[in-house]
Amino acid sequence: MQVLSQDMGYEMYKGSCLCGDICFEITGEIKNIVYCHCSRCRKAQGSAFATNGNLEEKHFNIIQGEQNLTKYESAPGEYKYFCKKCGSPIISKNDAKPGNVRVRLGTIETDIKEKPEAHIFVSSKANWDEINDRLPRYDSYKS
Ligand SMILES: [Zn+2]
Ligand SMILES: [Zn+2]
Repeated sequence: MQVLSQDMGYEMYKGSCLCGDICFEITGEIKNIVYCHCSRCRKAQGSAFATNGNLEEKHFNIIQGEQNLTKYESAPGEYKYFCKKCGSPIISKNDAKPGNVRVRLGTIETDIKEKPEAHIFVSSKANWDEINDRLPRYDSYKS
Protein backbone atom coordinates (compact mmCIF):
# COMPACT_ATOMS: atom_id res chain seq x y z
CA MET A 1 0.00 0.00 0.00
CA GLN A 2 1.29 3.40 -0.95
CA VAL A 3 1.39 6.09 1.69
CA LEU A 4 0.31 9.37 0.15
CA SER A 5 0.96 12.80 1.54
CA GLN A 6 -1.91 14.08 -0.56
CA ASP A 7 -5.57 14.30 0.24
CA MET A 8 -8.01 15.12 -2.55
CA GLY A 9 -5.06 16.24 -4.66
CA TYR A 10 -3.88 18.84 -2.18
CA GLU A 11 -0.30 18.85 -1.16
CA MET A 12 0.49 18.84 2.49
CA TYR A 13 1.72 22.13 3.84
CA LYS A 14 3.92 22.52 6.89
CA GLY A 15 4.22 25.34 9.34
CA SER A 16 5.63 26.28 12.71
CA CYS A 17 5.85 29.08 15.22
CA LEU A 18 8.83 31.41 15.61
CA CYS A 19 10.57 29.33 18.29
CA GLY A 20 9.86 26.11 16.42
CA ASP A 21 8.24 24.30 19.33
CA ILE A 22 4.85 24.13 17.62
CA CYS A 23 4.81 22.38 14.26
CA PHE A 24 1.70 21.69 12.21
CA GLU A 25 0.56 20.19 8.95
CA ILE A 26 -2.24 21.27 6.66
CA THR A 27 -3.79 18.53 4.57
CA GLY A 28 -6.63 20.32 2.81
CA GLU A 29 -7.45 23.36 0.77
CA ILE A 30 -7.13 26.79 2.37
CA LYS A 31 -10.18 28.84 1.41
CA ASN A 32 -11.21 32.47 1.54
CA ILE A 33 -7.74 33.88 2.14
CA VAL A 34 -8.02 37.56 2.97
CA TYR A 35 -5.91 40.42 4.19
CA CYS A 36 -7.79 41.66 7.24
CA HIS A 37 -7.10 45.28 8.19
CA CYS A 38 -9.40 45.36 11.23
CA SER A 39 -8.03 46.86 14.43
CA ARG A 40 -8.06 43.55 16.29
CA CYS A 41 -6.07 41.74 13.60
CA ARG A 42 -3.63 44.64 13.44
CA LYS A 43 -3.00 44.37 17.17
CA ALA A 44 -2.86 40.58 17.15
CA GLN A 45 -0.20 40.61 14.43
CA GLY A 46 1.56 43.86 15.35
CA SER A 47 1.33 44.81 11.70
CA ALA A 48 -0.81 46.50 9.06
CA PHE A 49 -3.01 43.45 8.56
CA ALA A 50 -3.39 39.75 9.17
CA THR A 51 -3.43 37.22 6.33
CA ASN A 52 -5.86 34.49 7.27
CA GLY A 53 -7.49 31.57 5.51
CA ASN A 54 -10.23 29.08 6.32
CA LEU A 55 -9.45 25.46 6.88
CA GLU A 56 -11.49 22.49 7.98
CA GLU A 57 -10.29 21.64 11.46
CA LYS A 58 -9.75 18.02 10.47
CA HIS A 59 -7.15 19.28 7.96
CA PHE A 60 -5.14 21.12 10.59
CA ASN A 61 -2.89 18.80 12.57
CA ILE A 62 -0.46 19.80 15.24
CA ILE A 63 2.39 17.33 15.07
CA GLN A 64 4.59 18.81 17.80
CA GLY A 65 4.35 21.22 20.71
CA GLU A 66 0.59 21.25 21.31
CA GLN A 67 1.30 21.85 25.01
CA ASN A 68 2.68 25.27 24.08
CA LEU A 69 -0.46 26.31 22.22
CA THR A 70 -2.53 28.63 24.36
CA LYS A 71 -5.56 30.77 23.59
CA TYR A 72 -6.99 34.18 24.20
CA GLU A 73 -10.71 34.91 23.92
CA SER A 74 -10.58 38.08 21.82
CA ALA A 75 -14.36 38.38 21.57
CA PRO A 76 -17.16 36.23 23.01
CA GLY A 77 -16.75 32.78 21.48
CA GLU A 78 -13.72 33.81 19.39
CA TYR A 79 -10.34 32.38 20.34
CA LYS A 80 -6.90 33.26 19.07
CA TYR A 81 -4.39 30.45 19.52
CA PHE A 82 -0.73 31.32 19.86
CA CYS A 83 2.56 29.89 21.09
CA LYS A 84 2.97 30.73 24.75
CA LYS A 85 6.76 30.66 24.39
CA CYS A 86 7.33 32.90 21.34
CA GLY A 87 3.93 34.52 20.79
CA SER A 88 3.43 33.46 17.17
CA PRO A 89 -0.25 33.58 16.22
CA ILE A 90 -1.20 30.24 14.68
CA ILE A 91 -4.97 29.85 14.27
CA SER A 92 -8.25 31.23 15.49
CA LYS A 93 -11.54 29.47 16.17
CA ASN A 94 -15.06 30.75 16.44
CA ASP A 95 -17.74 28.88 18.41
CA ALA A 96 -20.22 29.98 15.75
CA LYS A 97 -18.25 28.06 13.09
CA PRO A 98 -17.55 24.64 14.57
CA GLY A 99 -15.21 22.40 12.60
CA ASN A 100 -13.34 25.33 11.10
CA VAL A 101 -10.13 27.12 11.94
CA ARG A 102 -8.58 30.24 10.47
CA VAL A 103 -4.87 29.81 9.96
CA ARG A 104 -2.36 32.68 10.03
CA LEU A 105 -0.63 32.22 6.71
CA GLY A 106 2.66 33.74 7.86
CA THR A 107 3.38 30.66 9.95
CA ILE A 108 3.26 28.32 6.93
CA GLU A 109 6.74 27.41 5.72
CA THR A 110 5.98 25.64 2.49
CA ASP A 111 4.84 27.30 -0.71
CA ILE A 112 1.08 27.21 -1.08
CA LYS A 113 -0.96 27.32 -4.24
CA GLU A 114 -3.89 29.28 -2.85
CA LYS A 115 -3.75 33.09 -3.06
CA PRO A 116 -5.33 35.96 -1.14
CA GLU A 117 -8.67 36.95 -2.62
CA ALA A 118 -9.53 40.27 -1.01
CA HIS A 119 -8.80 42.99 1.50
CA ILE A 120 -11.40 43.21 4.26
CA PHE A 121 -12.19 45.83 6.87
CA VAL A 122 -10.34 48.40 4.79
CA SER A 123 -12.37 51.10 6.55
CA SER A 124 -10.34 50.22 9.67
CA LYS A 125 -6.92 50.15 8.04
CA ALA A 126 -4.01 52.12 9.45
CA ASN A 127 -3.55 55.50 7.79
CA TRP A 128 0.05 54.60 6.90
CA ASP A 129 -1.03 51.40 5.15
CA GLU A 130 -1.33 51.74 1.38
CA ILE A 131 -3.04 48.97 -0.57
CA ASN A 132 -1.31 48.65 -3.93
CA ASP A 133 -2.89 45.66 -5.56
CA ARG A 134 -6.03 45.03 -7.56
CA LEU A 135 -7.80 42.67 -5.22
CA PRO A 136 -11.35 43.59 -4.24
CA ARG A 137 -11.74 45.64 -1.09
CA TYR A 138 -14.53 45.37 1.45
CA ASP A 139 -15.39 47.59 4.38
CA SER A 140 -16.34 44.57 6.48
CA TYR A 141 -16.32 40.86 5.74
CA LYS A 142 -16.01 39.60 2.19
CA SER A 143 -19.51 39.07 0.89
ZN1 LIG B 1 6.83 29.22 19.56
ZN1 LIG C 1 -9.50 41.15 11.35
